[in-house]
Amino acid sequence: MDTKRKYITKKRFWAGTLLAQFLLFFIASKIGPALEFFAQFFDFQKRIHQKIFAAVPYSIGDAVYILLGIVLIILLIRIVNKNTRNSYLLKLLVLLNILYFTYQIFWGILYFQEPIIEKLPVGEITLEESKALTIKYLALSRQARLSVEEDDKGVFKLSDITRIKTEILGRQERLPVFLESTKPSHINSFKPSLFRGVMSYSGILGYYNPFTAEAQYNPELPATYLPFTLAHESAHQMGYAREHEANFIAFLLGKESTNPELRYSTYYFVLKSLLNSLAEKNPHFVRQTISNYSLGMKRDRAAEKKFVQDHKGILEDFFGFTNDLFLKSNRQDGSITYSYFVDLMVRFERNPGVNQ
Ligand SMILES: [Zn+2]
Repeated sequence: MDTKRKYITKKRFWAGTLLAQFLLFFIASKIGPALEFFAQFFDFQKRIHQKIFAAVPYSIGDAVYILLGIVLIILLIRIVNKNTRNSYLLKLLVLLNILYFTYQIFWGILYFQEPIIEKLPVGEITLEESKALTIKYLALSRQARLSVEEDDKGVFKLSDITRIKTEILGRQERLPVFLESTKPSHINSFKPSLFRGVMSYSGILGYYNPFTAEAQYNPELPATYLPFTLAHESAHQMGYAREHEANFIAFLLGKESTNPELRYSTYYFVLKSLLNSLAEKNPHFVRQTISNYSLGMKRDRAAEKKFVQDHKGILEDFFGFTNDLFLKSNRQDGSITYSYFVDLMVRFERNPGVNQ
């Protein structure tokens, strides 16, 4: 009886601590200096983590996730068993406290940083503006496509992924000053995901691991996706947590790159984002633009479609998943007419003054 009471007291303590954490991080997210502190802390811990984990060529973070998965399964099995329930519920609560705390200080709190849009001039984006930019990015994509290599089917292929990674890290140095971003770490911590098969079927392109500061990517992706995905994940490594903002930073990293593969992948992403934002209201314009793709671009588009098609089915059949994420990665938030990324990009393009 006594031990039971002891467990109840301890469980109450850890449940209370978890609630207190929710509250404290919520309050911290509203306080400017606290956010500033966490941004500095992110930079500090990320450098240490990258120094430790970058030396290993495979993803330590993925191994941590697998281990964590096993631990959670064991805990749940013990919790289901009446005899061991009390002590393992307590262990689970302690683990949740640790995970929540480390996740928040390493990453979660960054979602509350001032949005980039606040640093850009305001103003509605007109339809004409979007269309003009679409035409501009079609021309840029067509031009960049001429300088990349092709496989035997005439589809864009990457010649050297390491060179792209190095280029992205170098470009981090040249981001516009208005972003006030922290100094880049120059540490190559891009890792092919251990879950690449699942990623191909679920439509996930890449992800940042907050516990190890590694950037995982799916190496099986079509070449059109890969360089931009790497740039996107590197933006997360710089501390840009929001998806659309990571895309915007990736756009800045890629748009003037001297590496034609990164440039093409970036222009092509911008083009697709613009087309998606116009698709609902201007289907004719979108069809017309796609018909003006160069032959090489048309082959790349077909290869992307085939990749999605080939990886459709299994997860969908068994778990009811869809390849929606693939659409979302192009369409951003899944909405057809509005995208925060397009908003950021158009405002940036409109004001060459802030480009310095
Ligand atoms: Zn992301």
